[in-house]
Amino acid sequence: MNVRKLTKILNSNAVLYTIEFQKRGLPHAHILIFLKDKSKCHDPSQIDDIICAEIPDKDEDPEAYAAVENYMMHGPCGEANTKSPCMVENRCTKHFPKKYNSETTIDEEGFPVYKRRDNGRQIKKGKATLDNRFVVPYNRDLLVKFQAHINVEWCNRSRSIKYLFKYIHKGVDYVVGLLKENTSKNETDEIKKYLEMRYISATEACWRLFQFDLNYRDPPVERLNFHLENEQQIIFPDSTDIRNIVRKEGVKETKFTEWMNANKHHEEARELTYADFPNRWVWKAKEKKMGKEKTRICNRKDLLCTSNKWRKVLPPDAAEHCQRMHVI
Ligand SMILES: [Zn+2]
Repeated sequence: MNVRKLTKILNSNAVLYTIEFQKRGLPHAHILIFLKDKSKCHDPSQIDDIICAEIPDKDEDPEAYAAVENYMMHGPCGEANTKSPCMVENRCTKHFPKKYNSETTIDEEGFPVYKRRDNGRQIKKGKATLDNRFVVPYNRDLLVKFQAHINVEWCNRSRSIKYLFKYIHKGVDYVVGLLKENTSKNETDEIKKYLEMRYISATEACWRLFQFDLNYRDPPVERLNFHLENEQQIIFPDSTDIRNIVRKEGVKETKFTEWMNANKHHEEARELTYADFPNRWVWKAKEKKMGKEKTRICNRKDLLCTSNKWRKVLPPDAAEHCQRMHVI
């Protein structure tokens, strides 16, 4: 199953993911899925339909029970295992064990507090006996299908979404290293001393060599520019004569000026804000080659299609499906 298929099943309208590699090389993905409005959990109890943080009934659902036992139990940590990697200063950094909760709620910060009933269900891990307070939240079907650790969390507050974006794009690990001759001299070389390098495991190196995806985003996000009158940003090589640049046909037009032009000439354009405009209209930009350098001029506009052309290009219900801005 690929991400596109998954988003279809989940009835989502946007997705992004980043693949990261742990120190020993295992890849793992951080995936953020935006559900369509009708599929969103408006009530905390609806979260229970997608996410669970309890041990399943061994007799009713043995498959799920086995998968939770194998992949979704945190620890043992705390007093049962003070040497667990999650333990710092005698406390679990992942805040396990969680508290028992009779139902799912959302706290003041906007984070979900999942249902974890004190129902006596337990799982033995080594010498420790773990209960619902140690379950990492999961989706039953994804867990059973993929047989892997898949933590599923709900987030619906701008703060938590912003946090997630930051988290999934935090980039690769870095190490500070120094290569030096094995001599007795004690010379200080600050440049050598602060040499910063990316830490890439053998698995990640192969992943990159084979050009597998490291991140994915659908629909693509396009930044709409804006500027004061006659202060359009143009990028050109130093070696180019500025007079040739300013004389070039279409150099003044940007997405912003052409949005205003479309408003001037087409009544239907006036119904849309600048941000909503790409939902219905297509922007066409063409690459320009400047002399030998082949440098691209940013924001060079060639044509903004009319809504008539838009209707010809797409099926009748396209407006609902089309969320992306096409850059051609
Ligand atoms: Zn822990």
